[in-house]
Amino acid sequence: MLTCTKCKAEKPETEFHACKTTVTRRRPECKTCRKTERRARYEANREKEAAQMLAYRQVEANQQSARRRAREQKAVARQDPAYRKRETAFNREWRRRNPEKMAAANARQRARGRFSPDWTPEEWAALLDLYGHRCLACLTTGVRLQPDHVVPLSWPGASNAIDNIQPLCGPCNLTKSDKHIDYRPELKGTPS
Ligand SMILES: [Zn+2]
Ligand SMILES: [Zn+2]
Repeated sequence: MLTCTKCKAEKPETEFHACKTTVTRRRPECKTCRKTERRARYEANREKEAAQMLAYRQVEANQQSARRRAREQKAVARQDPAYRKRETAFNREWRRRNPEKMAAANARQRARGRFSPDWTPEEWAALLDLYGHRCLACLTTGVRLQPDHVVPLSWPGASNAIDNIQPLCGPCNLTKSDKHIDYRPELKGTPS
């Protein structure tokens, strides 16, 4: 008989999982306690992941609406000829002062498409963290993941930003090819 360190109950040895590193060759806690503990840890982890994903989607949505508002405000302001004149002067001055940024922007523009992502390495890393570094199609971890466009870039109006990207392994990316398949887990209550 062994005494469980968690529930303090005395139980036969068979009620404890085998363990190579303890003197008794058994886990210190009984099978029932171990099961409860693992279950709780699993639930906590799942809730944490769901909360993280929700927070991430919310930040994305907020940024998107902020960008949309800014675009709308600019469009309204541009109706004023004086504003347009100031804007042109400002842009000309900015280009004069930032030739290297202009060159980079031009190069980006030329290579726009699958060779030049509109997302940053940080955004891609955050996406991998969010989905636990696994292929969203086959759920494999520990493989090299590729950024796949949910809506293929070849489709009209497809976004080349992070909100249109999902991590896939090489084989899954190849299988998906030019189809629109969203493997990202759906979250209820996410503002869009
Ligand atoms: Zn126990
Ligand atoms: Zn895969």
